[in-house]
Amino acid sequence: MSTIRFNALKEALKRVPVEIKEEERKSEAFGKNVFNEHSMRQFMTKEAYQSVMDAIEFGKKIDRKVADQVAAAMKDWALSKNATHYTHWFQPLTGATAEKHDAFFETMGNGRAMEKFGGGELVQQEPDASSFPNGGIRNTFEARGYTAWDPTSPAFIYGTTLCIPTIFVAYTGEALDNKTPLLRALQAIDSSATAVCKYFDKNVTKVNASLGWEQEYFLVDAALAISRPDINLTGRTLLGHSPAKGQQLDDHYFGSIPRRVLSYMRDMEQECMLLGIPVKTRHNEVAPNQYELAPIFEEANLAVDHNSLLMDVMERVAQKHNFRVLFHEKPFAGINGSGKHNNWSLATSTGINLLSPGKTPMKNLQFLTFFVNTIKAVHDYEELIRASIASASNDHRLGANEAPPAIISVFIGSQLSAVLDELENVTNGKLSPEEKTDLKLNIVGKIPEILLDNTDRNRTSPFAFTGNKFELRAVGSWSNCAGSMTVLNTIVAKQLKDFKVEVDALIEKKKLKKDEAIFNVLREYIKASKKIRFEGNGYGDEWEVEAVKRGLSNNKTTPEALKAKKSAKTIALFEEMGVMSKIETEARHEIELEEYILRIQIEGRVLGDIARNHVIPTAIKYQNTLIENVSGLKNIFGAEFEAHAKEQMDLIKKISMHIAGINSKVESMTEERKKANKLHGQEAADAYCNIVKPCFDEIRYHCDKLELLVDDELWPLAKYRELLFTR
Ligand code: ADP
Ligand code: MG
Repeated sequence: MSTIRFNALKEALKRVPVEIKEEERKSEAFGKNVFNEHSMRQFMTKEAYQSVMDAIEFGKKIDRKVADQVAAAMKDWALSKNATHYTHWFQPLTGATAEKHDAFFETMGNGRAMEKFGGGELVQQEPDASSFPNGGIRNTFEARGYTAWDPTSPAFIYGTTLCIPTIFVAYTGEALDNKTPLLRALQAIDSSATAVCKYFDKNVTKVNASLGWEQEYFLVDAALAISRPDINLTGRTLLGHSPAKGQQLDDHYFGSIPRRVLSYMRDMEQECMLLGIPVKTRHNEVAPNQYELAPIFEEANLAVDHNSLLMDVMERVAQKHNFRVLFHEKPFAGINGSGKHNNWSLATSTGINLLSPGKTPMKNLQFLTFFVNTIKAVHDYEELIRASIASASNDHRLGANEAPPAIISVFIGSQLSAVLDELENVTNGKLSPEEKTDLKLNIVGKIPEILLDNTDRNRTSPFAFTGNKFELRAVGSWSNCAGSMTVLNTIVAKQLKDFKVEVDALIEKKKLKKDEAIFNVLREYIKASKKIRFEGNGYGDEWEVEAVKRGLSNNKTTPEALKAKKSAKTIALFEEMGVMSKIETEARHEIELEEYILRIQIEGRVLGDIARNHVIPTAIKYQNTLIENVSGLKNIFGAEFEAHAKEQMDLIKKISMHIAGINSKVESMTEERKKANKLHGQEAADAYCNIVKPCFDEIRYHCDKLELLVDDELWPLAKYRELLFTR
């Protein structure tokens, strides 16, 4: 009997839900471990408090003396909550989060000690984090990367550590993290959008991008997960025969949540409450053992931090419940994968959602302005959006008939499509009073305030308007939201900036009225961006054909998709908008390509190892049993034995055939890896993508066949039915 697998199963069957005590109301627990406005007021001087608020709202610098006061307050607060250490919490380009803990504790030299934490420690730290990927920006001999405090995301206590959200930059100033470009993109959208808002309302002083993510994930029993080297090392199963029952009955979706899982969710949500992550919904997803949670949306930088923190919390809490969380986009072949939907909108300092239609024609013109500009931005930079969600693991999902295709398009619903079609006919130049009235009353004025019902129907679109926000649905469940949010906010910022220039030019040079000028520019944008709009089935083959005709990109693999990340157009965009320098842009491309290569390389090694060292020996063991059986039959039946041993002999042959298949393919895969390892950058990634990776399918095919042939008791790896239906 296979001990690993059966021990794991025995463990898994013994589990009972961990008991969770929720003593507090959620509203009372919320933000308890966050140094938020409430605790700042309590612990800070008025001066320090005001200074931090100004930094948050207007990006004002906090001077050193005040930083000392802030640090002292933060320390007092943290000690009052029994924290012992502090860390600068940052998001290196690995996509995860990083921290290096330092104790508050300092000795005083006279045998005594105290807790110390000053402005210096708050504002800047040199974590000597020289082994994070940096795409050649930072030579390791310099080994200097600094973390610097981001006051717009509040400090929090996790466990016994005060975590201070920070950016991570090189000694020479280049961003080494995901947060810095995001903050710059958010600044860009603020300034472009605020300028455009002034056409409609002079009182708007700031525009914030909002993000509400939805996170999908799988939960697998920890003991079963450990019995699978592929899950352990790559986050997904590299082989495994599909179970007799998968998701075809759709009986998991929105079904009642299994008790052990519910207890996990409650525990994890309790942690989230303390950390100020406003999680709101939880439910089963389509695939067995797949779940989703979503928070109330927040300002985008905070929301990105919260998503990263959440993924960390989820993994840690899972340990306590003997679960393993799988964030991989496609942990199981033949079963739905996981994504992250990024709901995005723009909110003004006056409390208006710019992507929400209003009550008056003027409000609706403002809505249309932001709506059309967003569509135009996506049209102009569709390839960059595709690139922003590219990863080795997300390649399994995009275009796999269950998730948005690799083709980026925008869905807006029939009502708004009709409005845009009408606007295409607006007269060029000055508008007659009749036309103006008609536009206001019959077209713009007719956009209903609530569009929610009729726009949320299309689930196959990668970028859908859902009534008061756009939903980017193609983001990978494993990825950091910062990447796609940086791109989306930058391209819309650039678009709004251009829009403002064009409208102003029409007002000044052509002497058009403001609304005339806006209608004129929108008309041209609607015409120019028509090809990005698609209302049909994004999963259909016809769409692929149609998209080619329209000239839209369809980059199916990461190495293809990433090219758009360092095109001249992208470099110019990021430079113009002050989001990334050429060096920063190119460094990220290099790192992402490298990460792709490494991921496929690791998968190749793990698959080779499992196939050779687990599957083949097991198959041989079983084959030997069969051989013994056949020779026994021969002893008993002599010449007639074949009539009794036919099935067994067939099996023996089949097993040999599959073993040979595995061997030869693992060999050629290894050879191809060696060749690929001699290449660099794009060429290496292409080789891994087009030559190494396709070997996986054939190896897997033979392994999965063997899984069906070999005695269940001998099979060493937890099977799909066990991974997916043990809860
Ligand atoms: P689903 O897409 O599963 O139907 P919803 O449409 O309710 O779910 O979307 C839920 C997500 O959208 C939540 O994360 C929510 O916070 C977010 N969301 C709602 N309104 C906005 C908005 N104006 N801006 C950004 N995100 C929003
Ligand atoms: Mg959604």
